[in-house]
Amino acid sequence: MLVTGSSRGIGAATVLLAAENGFDVIVNYVHNVDAAQHVVTSIQERGQHAIAIQADIACQADVDMMFAAIDDHFGKLDALVNNAGTLEQQMPLEDMTVDRWQRVFAVNVFGTFLCCQKAIKRMKAGSGIVNVSSIAATLGSPFEYVDYAASKAAVDTLTIGLAKEVASRGIRVNTVRPGTIHTEIHALGGEPERAERVKASIPMQRVGEAQEIAEAILWLLSDKASYMTGACVDVSGGR
Ligand code: NAP
Repeated sequence: MLVTGSSRGIGAATVLLAAENGFDVIVNYVHNVDAAQHVVTSIQERGQHAIAIQADIACQADVDMMFAAIDDHFGKLDALVNNAGTLEQQMPLEDMTVDRWQRVFAVNVFGTFLCCQKAIKRMKAGSGIVNVSSIAATLGSPFEYVDYAASKAAVDTLTIGLAKEVASRGIRVNTVRPGTIHTEIHALGGEPERAERVKASIPMQRVGEAQEIAEAILWLLSDKASYMTGACVDVSGGR
């Protein structure tokens, strides 16, 4: 299983749970080699095989290199989780630049597209993809990051279309839309404690944990979800 952006946060929780479920895993990261190596060591302690690959999913040459390394090392790919994602400083749409929209879409949308394209060329019947979107796609994230919300809506639509293209080949493609989760991503928006601030607006009155997203991802990739494809599963505390 390849999980993009699995050195930290939701991705790290997903590869750890995947290892407990018997997967050998590829831990992808962009900058944080120490965190990635720590995750690899934790997986090896669970008795599974793991390698870390540094690759910026927004860079086509990096994605090519990553899949070539997967071919060399494992010779196959059964599951892909497009989890790596980014956002930028909170601001209203009227202050945003085109460059910023391009940076956010380069990772969240084009990176997801590139990895999906590479993966389906390698996948056999019974394989699966889960794209990690966001409940922001339904909320719009006004005054914070409309660009991010729009990029996640694009991921939702990509999931629906790709799922229909590969369904007859036995490959399932689904989306998980997390609500607000305790991770370091909120610091990128300039508000590390954002999760606690928005807690009162969540019907369940609490922030989610990365493990709760990982559980949904692993379930979607399992045979228990064998008739699900093109679906969007909200794991958002009711938002
Ligand atoms: P996070 O804690 O900030 O971790 C981000 C991970 O992605 C890190 O492993 C990072 O690698 C990697 N990454 C970032 N840019 C990358 C790139 N260009 N290429 C490859 N890897 C890259 O994030 P998170 O909160 O776990 O978020 C994971 C996913 O869930 C994202 O798609 C996010 O949009 C989505 N999500 C999160 C929340 C939330 O409240 N946390 C809510 C809804 C949706 P390094 O360690 O090397 O930097």
